Amino acid sequence: MYASKRRGKGTMARYAGAQDGGPHADLPHLLAQALESHPGDAGFEVFYQPIVRFTDGATVAVEALARWTSPVVGPVHPDVFVSVAERTGLVAAIDDFVLDQACADAASLAVVFGRPVDMHVNVSAARLAPGLEDVVVAALTRHGVPASRLVVEITETRRISDLTAAAAVVTRLRSHGIRVALDDFGSGFNALAQLHSLPVDIVKLDSTLTDVDVAPDQAGALCRSVVTLCDGLNIAVVAEGIETPSRAAALASLGCLMGQGYLFGQPGPLHRLQPPAIPAQPTAPSSAAQLS
Ligand code: C2E
Ligand code: MG
Ligand code: MG
Ligand code: MG
Repeated sequence: MYASKRRGKGTMARYAGAQDGGPHADLPHLLAQALESHPGDAGFEVFYQPIVRFTDGATVAVEALARWTSPVVGPVHPDVFVSVAERTGLVAAIDDFVLDQACADAASLAVVFGRPVDMHVNVSAARLAPGLEDVVVAALTRHGVPASRLVVEITETRRISDLTAAAAVVTRLRSHGIRVALDDFGSGFNALAQLHSLPVDIVKLDSTLTDVDVAPDQAGALCRSVVTLCDGLNIAVVAEGIETPSRAAALASLGCLMGQGYLFGQPGPLHRLQPPAIPAQPTAPSSAAQLS
């Protein structure tokens, strides 16, 4: 069924050639059509994946991830439609749909997890321009979600050309109490320059760097160094790609506090989200604040 198909990267790989003029060369057109009206009516939906605290297994946040089942060609992998959307200037429509849906789902997410959880949404680095702040604040206001619940993940598929201008937008977002994360840290361009210029709250350590073992080695030393670096800058670290208990244990031993990956849960639709295997802490009046 579709539910099991979309999980594997391989299943949708046949669409990978679409952007280069393969059998589905009309993907940009199909995408434009789908985003013209309400994306939710054209096969777009939002999946959620837990972000977990290593020490007690509590889900502290969820990341909202776009999914698209084209009415014409079927499921298209996010890496494919996001990159097509970025090239054709449509990625804002996807980001805004996901942002709005995540805010609309905030109350239901709180019910699933027994308390409010932070929500991470992805925003293409190309959108770090004036105007982003208004869109984000409007979505929060529309659905009555406190700014302190939202984390904007900056995904950098292209080099951020003007880090000073980007930093100004980040600062504007943060002035509302919205937190900002650098996504896929260490996999892209200029990681250290970005860390230097952008006043972010969270770094998401890319899965290519979290392939660590409990035995000390170079990969572990690198992770530990990034965690130490971020500690010094008062930046929280979330490790991506946690697939095994040993990887979780290794990262925890390296000082990393939070992780995300198939070990803790696959991305899934709201109605299929499971409360964490280890129950969340009983909610004392102040504990929601401590979880952030
Ligand atoms: P990302 O933001 O880094 O999201 C994490 C990706 O890692 C997701 O891929 C998720 O399914 C995958 N993942 C989670 N746990 C594991 C694991 O344990 N192992 C492995 N191998 N992978 C894991 P997904 O959903 O296919 O999304 C791919 C990328 O597409 C995202 O990477 C993000 O850059 C982009 N994307 C998704 N939704 C949006 C959106 O609404 N707006 C924008 N601008 N980009 C989006
Ligand atoms: Mg992300
Ligand atoms: Mg990421
Ligand atoms: Mg990544």
